[in-house]
Amino acid sequence: GTLKFISHLTLISIVVLRVRPFLDEELTGGKKGKQQCIQFYNDNQSLSMIRPNQDVRNFKFDCVLDQESDQILAYDQIAYPVVQDVLNGFNGVVMAYGQTGSGKTHTIFGSRASLDHLYTMKGQGDLHEESGIVPRCVTHLFDYIKINPNKAQFRVTMSFLEIYNEQITDLLLQTNNGSTSPGGNNQGSNSHTRNSSTSPIRGGGSSTSIGNSASQGQNLKIREDQNTGIYVDGLTQVNVKSKDQLYQLIKIGAKLLQIFVEQRWIETGQESGLLKDDRNASPQKTSRQQFKKRHHKKALLTIVDLAGSERLSKTGSEGLRLQEAKNINKSIAALSNCISALASETKNTFVPFRDSKLTRLLTHSLGGNCKTTICACISPSLIHYDESFSTLLFAARAM
Ligand code: ADP
Ligand code: MG
Repeated sequence: GTLKFISHLTLISIVVLRVRPFLDEELTGGKKGKQQCIQFYNDNQSLSMIRPNQDVRNFKFDCVLDQESDQILAYDQIAYPVVQDVLNGFNGVVMAYGQTGSGKTHTIFGSRASLDHLYTMKGQGDLHEESGIVPRCVTHLFDYIKINPNKAQFRVTMSFLEIYNEQITDLLLQTNNGSTSPGGNNQGSNSHTRNSSTSPIRGGGSSTSIGNSASQGQNLKIREDQNTGIYVDGLTQVNVKSKDQLYQLIKIGAKLLQIFVEQRWIETGQESGLLKDDRNASPQKTSRQQFKKRHHKKALLTIVDLAGSERLSKTGSEGLRLQEAKNINKSIAALSNCISALASETKNTFVPFRDSKLTRLLTHSLGGNCKTTICACISPSLIHYDESFSTLLFAARAM
C-alpha cells in the first residue's frame, strides 16, 4: 500500500490487478482472441503488456493476481486488510474497476452458482469455492463476532443500492416488494430507513415499516448532515443478526453494498502501579485501582461493483440509451478524476467529489482516513488490449 498526504486528506490505497482466465468466446475468436497480451513475473507485483510490433509497457502494483488465482487468494489480497480495519473502527472501501466482462462481478460477488449455493443452503452450507468478496466479508465479520474477544455488543446493519443513470435505487426495498424476493421476510422491526432522524451512526431511530419511504426506494436523494455526514435519504437499513440473513439479501447485479459495524464494550480490571502523585514515594507504596473503560467503535464498509469502464464508442447507443451511457460513464469518469486528484503530489488539488452520485457518496471514504482497495480487472486476450491498457493506466494513477 501507499500512504499519501494531500493537504488534510489521507489516501491509503491498495491497488490489485486481477487477470481473469480466457473465456470460450476469446479462445474461439480467432488468432487474436486466444493470444495473450499479458506477461507475469515472479514478484506477483509486476506485469507487462505486449502487442506485436509495439513497445512493451511495464506496470507495477501492490499485487498482481494471475489466471490461476482463486477466490481465497483474491479475498486475502483485496478485502482481508480492509475488513480487519473495519473491525478496528476504520471505514473501508473495496471497488472493482474494469470493462464489461473483465471479472468485476465474479470478484465482488462470485459466480452465479456460488450465490445460488449460499441462498439455497440456508445456513446448512458455507462458502462455495467461487464465492466472491461480499460473502467472504460477511463470513469474516460474523466469525469475528462469534469469537468476540472483547465481549462487545455488536450492531451490524446493511444497505444495498444501485446508482444507474445517476439515479439511486434502494435494492433492499425492491427485494422486499418482489415476489421472487430472497429476503422477503424483512418487514417491520428489523429494518428501518435511514434519514436525518433515524441514523444508525447515531444509534437512534425508530423502526419504520418498509414501503412508505420516498417513491418506493427510487430516485433517492443524497443529503448531508453535520453529525452523520453524507447519506442517502430514505435508504433501507436492515439490522443483521447472522451471516445467513445477510447471505439471503445479497443480490447479484447490485452495485453498492454498505455494511455498518458498531461495537461497544466495557473493559474492567485492576490497574497496579504507582499512583501519579506517588512518583517520588518509596517503591513499596504501590496502589491497586479498579478501572472501567468504555470502548465504542464504528465503521462503514463499502463494496462497489462498478459499471463497465469501456468508452462510449463501443456501446454504439443513441438517444435515451446514449444519455444513460453518458451518465454511467459520468460516474466512472468522476471516480477516475477524484482518484487522480487524491493521488496527485500537488498540494490543495481540488477533488471533484460532487461531479457524480457515486463520488459524492464516497467522499468521506475516499477523502478521509479510510482504507481503500481498488481491484482493476482485465482480460488476458489481445482482442481487449486497448481497454485493458486504459484500465492499467487508471490503476497506475491510483497508486
Ligand atoms: P464484469 O462484471 O466485469 O462484467 P463478470 O464478472 O461477469 O464481468 O465476468 C465475465 C465472465 O468471466 C463471466 O462468465 C465470469 O464467470 C467469468 N470470470 C470472470 N472472472 C473469472 C475468474 N477469476 N475465474 C473464472 N471465471 C471468471
Ligand atoms: Mg458485472
